Amino acid sequence: MRIYLDNAATTPLDKEVLDAMMPYMETMYGNPSAIHHFGRETRAAIEKARKTVAKRLNCTPGEIFFTSGGTESNNMALRCAVQAQGTKTIITSPIEHHCVMHTVEDIERYGKINVCNVRVDDKGHISLDHLEELLQTVQGPVLVSLMHANNELGTLMDLERAAELCQQYNAWLHSDTVQTVAHYAFDLKETPVHFISGSAHKFHGPKGAGFLYISHRVKLQPLLLGGAKERNMRAGTENVYGIVGLAKAMELAYDNLEERMVYIGGLRHYLANKLKQTFGDVVINGDEHDGLYTVLNVGFPLNDQTSMLLFHLDVAGICASSGSACSSGINKNSHVLEAVHADPNRVAIRFSFSHYNTKEQLDELVEKLKAWVPVAVVA
Ligand code: PLP
Repeated sequence: MRIYLDNAATTPLDKEVLDAMMPYMETMYGNPSAIHHFGRETRAAIEKARKTVAKRLNCTPGEIFFTSGGTESNNMALRCAVQAQGTKTIITSPIEHHCVMHTVEDIERYGKINVCNVRVDDKGHISLDHLEELLQTVQGPVLVSLMHANNELGTLMDLERAAELCQQYNAWLHSDTVQTVAHYAFDLKETPVHFISGSAHKFHGPKGAGFLYISHRVKLQPLLLGGAKERNMRAGTENVYGIVGLAKAMELAYDNLEERMVYIGGLRHYLANKLKQTFGDVVINGDEHDGLYTVLNVGFPLNDQTSMLLFHLDVAGICASSGSACSSGINKNSHVLEAVHADPNRVAIRFSFSHYNTKEQLDELVEKLKAWVPVAVVA
């Protein structure tokens, strides 16, 4: 039996989610724009899903726009915001996901826009003091894009505080919340953020389905042009079963939030302690005590064996990652680990958990690691 510890890359689809999606793959196949029975049926399903998502995040359904996932939502937020706001400065961080980082680079290249990076510390905390300093000095209009939780390290940012600061200095705030939506509670009525993004496959929903929250305070022009879908904000026939699955997965996640947080957080804590006790010479990258409860990034000492650790683990039936999904398996330095000055003499492995994991699986992982990682010598 393989052990799956790569839930920050993607999660297995929940069976209840699949059951909710199936009718829309089998019998309810109408194009939601069609005026006949089949169209009305799928249109109703999309609007029901929109209401579910809005209710769970405490915003209005008119602020939720379905997309193909986190990458599209982040591209859409950044590109459309820059156009609508007439952005002169983008403030971001050096540890953003590539879909934010590369989009900002592209806008900078073609848009005559000044880009500033907020400082991050060695655990990956984004400095909100530095954000405030930048907000005081940069030329407006200003768009801020800072991730809520880092996908490689799991370090969290105080989204409410960042939103307050942006409100105070009249800047727009986009936050990549792909790793936190459906893992933490959101109250968007009380959080003055302008855009957040979500992706169903990070919370046991289907791949290729996501959403962008756009606050009613801002009006954007669409990124994708074509038919008048998503209230003219995103052309293309809707991914009906994906949207239905996203809403179902979000409902299940929020119904079980407390229980899963405690259980998964317990697994993370258990593994961190067990690794330290067994091997001694391991470090936890990121904030061990206040990071995403789903992610544990571990630095093992570099040697001939550990340099191939991910590969060894895979052969032994354990699936983990070196960091972001885009670079996992590729022997390339992570921009995140570089930004936090991670020790180059360590091999970073990201273990990420879901409620389907067990302590027994973690025990098996530690047993297997003993083949390649030197165990602690007890005096
Ligand atoms: N942002 C973060 C923080 C992520 O972890 C990911 C996925 O790895 C994405 C964005 C991209 O999401 P998607 O895979 O839905 O395009």
